[in-house]
Amino acid sequence: MAREMFDLEGQVAMVTGGNGGIGLGIARGLAAAGAEIVVAARNEDKTAGAVDLLRGLGVEALGLKLDVADEASVAAAVSKILDRFGRIDILVNNAGIGIRKPPQDYTSEEWDRVLGINLKGTFLCSRGVYPHMVRAGAGSIINIGSMTSIFGSDWVASYSASKGGVVQLTKSLAVSWAKDRIRVNAILPGWIKTDLTLPIETQYPERHAFINSRIPAGRWGEPDDLAGTAVYLAGRAAAYVTGAVIAVDGGYSSF
Ligand code: NDP
Repeated sequence: MAREMFDLEGQVAMVTGGNGGIGLGIARGLAAAGAEIVVAARNEDKTAGAVDLLRGLGVEALGLKLDVADEASVAAAVSKILDRFGRIDILVNNAGIGIRKPPQDYTSEEWDRVLGINLKGTFLCSRGVYPHMVRAGAGSIINIGSMTSIFGSDWVASYSASKGGVVQLTKSLAVSWAKDRIRVNAILPGWIKTDLTLPIETQYPERHAFINSRIPAGRWGEPDDLAGTAVYLAGRAAAYVTGAVIAVDGGYSSF
């Protein structure tokens, strides 16, 4: 019974930005639960490496070139997944970027680039899989927010605005699509060691020390720390969970 609740065998999961960092940690978790994985991101070499790694776990994996901010690219990726697998059961909207600078220094191009990938990209991919999940009679969408979905920030205002938007989009899609048996939830990672956060220690040492000082768990998270929550939200264990926003942050947002 407990095993069945977390079993994803026979399901197909599309993970945007699944070629590294948190996306790959989540992809590894979904694969360990039996799901077939589509890694969809821009860098094809990184994607090929992730696909090899996932196949090594004994599941089918497909790599696709995708820019989540580009409507045509999303449509093409969805169509390729359907050609190959005939279904998309799980979508993880993980692709994301940040630009660190004071808000007054953003160009409108930079603003649009961050919002385009983090927020519009989440919408475009969700809309892209929607009709296919409706046809299948079920689906699970997992959006990746951030601590900045909750807290304001003085160095990543466009990122924070996008991640706040991701939470409200999550809730809106959840209430819109519950009738279709499509569940939409969000995970808010705390401080996780990835390429995105690697430069903080050398470029912003004081901020890095401050972050370290206020993580109750006493350590940064690893990409694999996100896997269990994603497996839970993807599968039958969370059949009645939609519109939920779950922090996976070592207690950071409770402090
Ligand atoms: P990474 O930089 O390691 O991963 C980001 C991923 O997004 C890459 O795989 C990248 O692949 C992909 N990506 C970026 N732009 C696009 C695009 N336009 N289309 C498709 N894929 C894209 O960082 P993380 O793993 O840390 O970040 C993953 C998610 O987690 C992001 O949404 C981030 O905001 C969020 N997050 C991270 C936290 C952390 O502490 N690390 C904390 C809170 C949230 P490619 O370049 O090949 O396209």
